[in-house]
Amino acid sequence: MEKVTEYFGSMVFDERVMKATLSEKVYKSLKRTIDRGTPLDISVANVVAAAMKDWAIEKGATHYTHWFQPMTGVTAEKHDSFITPAPDGRVIMEFSGKELVKGEPDASSFPSGGLRATFEARGYTAWDPTSYAFIKDGTLYIPTAFCSYTGEALDKKVPLLRSMEALNRQALRVLKLFGNENVRSVRTSVGPEQEYFLVDREMYKKRKDLIMTGRTLFGAKPPKGQEMEDHYFGSIKSRVADYMADLDKELWKLGILAKTKHNEVAPAQHELAPIYKTTNIAADHNQLTMEVMKKVAERHGLVCLLHEKPFEGVNGSGKHNNWSISTDTGVNLLSPGETPHENAQFLLFLAAVIKAVDDYQDLLRLSVATAGNDHRLGANEAPPAIISIFLGDELTAILEAIENDAPYGGTAKEKMKLGVDVLPQFSKDTTDRNRTSPFAFTGNKFEFRMLGSSNSISCANIHLNAAVAESLRQFADELEKASDFNSALHELIKRTIKDHKRIIFNGNGYDDAWVKEAEKRGLSNLRTTADCMPKICDKKNVEMLTSHGIFTEAEIFSRRDIMLENYVKSVNIEGQTMVDMARKEIIPAVAKFAADTASAVAVKKSVSDVACKYETRLVSELSELIDEMDSATTELEGIVAEFKGIEDILESSAFVRDKMIPAMDKLRAAADKAETMTAEDYYPFPTYDKLLFGV
Ligand code: ADP
Ligand code: MG
Repeated sequence: MEKVTEYFGSMVFDERVMKATLSEKVYKSLKRTIDRGTPLDISVANVVAAAMKDWAIEKGATHYTHWFQPMTGVTAEKHDSFITPAPDGRVIMEFSGKELVKGEPDASSFPSGGLRATFEARGYTAWDPTSYAFIKDGTLYIPTAFCSYTGEALDKKVPLLRSMEALNRQALRVLKLFGNENVRSVRTSVGPEQEYFLVDREMYKKRKDLIMTGRTLFGAKPPKGQEMEDHYFGSIKSRVADYMADLDKELWKLGILAKTKHNEVAPAQHELAPIYKTTNIAADHNQLTMEVMKKVAERHGLVCLLHEKPFEGVNGSGKHNNWSISTDTGVNLLSPGETPHENAQFLLFLAAVIKAVDDYQDLLRLSVATAGNDHRLGANEAPPAIISIFLGDELTAILEAIENDAPYGGTAKEKMKLGVDVLPQFSKDTTDRNRTSPFAFTGNKFEFRMLGSSNSISCANIHLNAAVAESLRQFADELEKASDFNSALHELIKRTIKDHKRIIFNGNGYDDAWVKEAEKRGLSNLRTTADCMPKICDKKNVEMLTSHGIFTEAEIFSRRDIMLENYVKSVNIEGQTMVDMARKEIIPAVAKFAADTASAVAVKKSVSDVACKYETRLVSELSELIDEMDSATTELEGIVAEFKGIEDILESSAFVRDKMIPAMDKLRAAADKAETMTAEDYYPFPTYDKLLFGV
């Protein structure tokens, strides 16, 4: 067996390889670009490209691709081989600096929300040297940003990098006020915990809904779901364990720090968590992880479902975005410190996050909105659609003491004066782990738990970084003008707590009482994608996002349209798939069972004069359900047809929310009832018990 330490990162053009293959001068120049974003000279790019190519060919690669993240939510790639004709009729393998740095994929078929008319279909991909190139399936992958001919971002990486830069800029201003002269940059880090389901491939292939939409559109609850709570952290079945081992190995080769794996709450549900990384790398790695998860599943006769709600009645899948801010000198700014100075700084960054989450609740909510995730948020499993922050009792009490100029702590009984007092010994491990909070402080980081399992983590982090950058900008503006820094700081933190404490909630987020309480506090409760997505265009959001250079106004409007189009298209495909399955599979199967049962009655009656109560009841109930399914299908067909005629995206997303989804629910209710009354042999596809317990 090969050792992990030997093959970890073996497919990555990382520092180690750079050092080994590049001259000292070229390496230093590339390193400056990576660390500080200085532009790369074309002569240096040529040398780097040649080294990458030689290394890749040695590893068996024949092609290269610019790998990018268009607004589809999945990654895109176009492969070019290294071959160039040689005069003697043979070929040589070539890869230039120009090819490394810039690509021109035809952009016309990617969603742009009207940003780029199809006649100017040129899009550019630009190498992101901060994310290492790697080899997968015989191809050298070069992480790139994707933008239009006119420079507008057409992807999720460009705005993510811009948001990191905005936060860096503002955090540096604040840190300077605290006298941190050595800090050169501030970065956010993310560790995304990824949930997923595994189902048997043969069963999957029998279900059109899973194939077309990634989730089951029909299916009665199995006799056993997750109520026994025996799956969570339970021992891992050998087929799943083999899959996980194989997955780890593939991820490790790609330099991805896969760390933790376990069974999740629902049957057939699992989780994988990597060790955290700088946000843009974490985003690339998470995209790659999702791809590899699916691919490795195939090798094991499995299918990996990343949909947020593959099965009704059992938990859906999310992605926990563990997020922190740290300096290049190694200080985690969200970690309570040990000196008064460090603690004042910690409290200011904490206040910045609290203010950001309160001011931009809508942006955070919409950053995770998809048709799939709408099934989770607000259901009794995931955090609710209402955004609030969990701080834990200890930290909340400290903030209260500051707000009220009240004494804190058992012995000292002194008022908390920032810059003077030491924050009382803060034991981060005692912060009660609140699993229902959408945004929880967990000792030295925040865990944003609303992300859906299939979401790119980029959107959430773009908006989170942007909102925090805005708080920090306001703080820096105020503090830079202050004559007495310590008292200005104290007043600022005190005021921020007072103004934004409504967002802090340490109770049970699943409780109905919270919905009412949140409404009283004036917190927003945007239940669906159709409700929240238009808010990205609200004046306050446009102003904030454009002022930090994260999006242009045109980009914001285009993103709204793209995300809403995603929403309506996804639901529409589900609606059509339901019609298809009901008409061609479910109704005929149930009708056949009813007919066979009815003929059995005729046969029985011909032999003797029996009542046939069971059969008669069954046939009459099934007949009613068949009619119900038939009319619900007809209704849904009508709605799907009507939907096609709606041009305006705001109108069609509201139509989907108000008409199509309820019609789908109605059809499903009838079909699920019929399923429970139909003999198993007649049912046209594997039911929940088989799917959930069949691996
Ligand atoms: P949980 O108990 O919620 O499952 P863990 O404590 O195992 O979580 O950590 C979850 C994730 O948080 C991991 O990916 C871990 O690397 C990440 N993490 C830990 N510290 C930080 C940090 N400072 N910034 C960002 N992510 C972090
Ligand atoms: Mg977690």
